[in-house]
Amino acid sequence: MINVKGGYERVFAKINLDAALNNFNNIVSSIDDNTKVLAVLKTDAYGHGAVPIARLLENQPKLYGFALATAEEALILRNSGIIKPLLVLGYTFPSSYENLILKDVSFTVFREDMLEDLARVCRNLSSTEYQYKVKVHIKVDTGMGRIGITPSDDGIEFVRKVMEYPEIQIEGLFTHLAKADEKDRAYTEKQIKIFKDFANRIEEELGIKIPYKHISNSAGIIEYREANMDLVRAGIILYGLWPSNEVSKEKISLKPVLSLHSKIVYIKKIPPGTSISYGGTFISDKDMVIATVPVGYGEGYPRSLSNKAEVLIRGQRCKILGRICMDQLMVDVTGVEDVAESDTVTLIGQDGSEYISMEELGEISGRFNYEMACDFGKRIPRVFTQNNKILYTKDYYEDF
Ligand SMILES: *Cc1c(COP(=O)(O)O)cnc(C)c1O
Repeated sequence: MINVKGGYERVFAKINLDAALNNFNNIVSSIDDNTKVLAVLKTDAYGHGAVPIARLLENQPKLYGFALATAEEALILRNSGIIKPLLVLGYTFPSSYENLILKDVSFTVFREDMLEDLARVCRNLSSTEYQYKVKVHIKVDTGMGRIGITPSDDGIEFVRKVMEYPEIQIEGLFTHLAKADEKDRAYTEKQIKIFKDFANRIEEELGIKIPYKHISNSAGIIEYREANMDLVRAGIILYGLWPSNEVSKEKISLKPVLSLHSKIVYIKKIPPGTSISYGGTFISDKDMVIATVPVGYGEGYPRSLSNKAEVLIRGQRCKILGRICMDQLMVDVTGVEDVAESDTVTLIGQDGSEYISMEELGEISGRFNYEMACDFGKRIPRVFTQNNKILYTKDYYEDF
């Protein structure tokens, strides 16, 4: 276990940057030679920390750039010195247009009013000495039912309109897969075909060549080589987590990046008939030893894991007893030899030969691994390691 600084004993997430680089390299070896990676760093890199992950990957030759969900997420990366392309995947509200154009962030477009507004902001910023350009990726809805133009005559008309603005430069065209993580392949194969046909139609009928066409998310990268095209958008697999249980885990090797650790703050013996935590949902039926761990749903550790999940202490699985509180939880350490206050508690990660994964907790909490990772909150300091040394630490203590 790495030694963390004072203030981080209560709880911290270790972010293993070597694991993230390993995952990136394995993604690269599983895609075509002329396909590049758009690394998806939205929601602070799925709770892992967007800036350190961006710095880790920025100089990789096969890294095209980074994708974010919001204008603010893109600006955080730019303002921290990241110079590779940045793409906002969602709708961007007009109040952010000026800032993003000035910082050379690319937009996802699919609404006509965006075009006029973007072009106008761009003209206003430009002078005879310097003409700004707006870079856009056009989103196509091929079966997600979310944002995106339809792959139809209307869609062609939209692209034609985009081309009429000298201020706007079409950098990409993309779609998103709705079921690539499921066993049944028919829906995804249809989405891929619709997208490729529509892209061909645009290029032929409108006489343009779109530089970056992209389809795949993580599940698409693992399962659909034919969807590689110019870029793939790698999200969850960068962090060593699986898009679902239905993708084939033999096709790519992944190492989980995040582990979560705390310490026992109190140990006590209890007789039979003792009620544990709010509501007394656990009552002992024998003599037991219980430990209090200072982690709760205030950290984003789901309350729905109450009476269900386990943690690791001295290499052994210990069951959570009673309801998880906002700041603390109790575990059964009855069978743990030599257990002591201040012992390390691993809530996610490896201890000895035992391992607790984000997937395991996602599943038993009735959520899933993506949501678990994103919900690890401000109260968890992040410790970034490379070669088992601490490279950066980040906490949010100043915000309080
Ligand atoms: C979040 C997102 C991704 C990444 O998805 P993963 O399953 O995490 O790889 C890719 N593309 C779009 C449009 C997204 O919103």
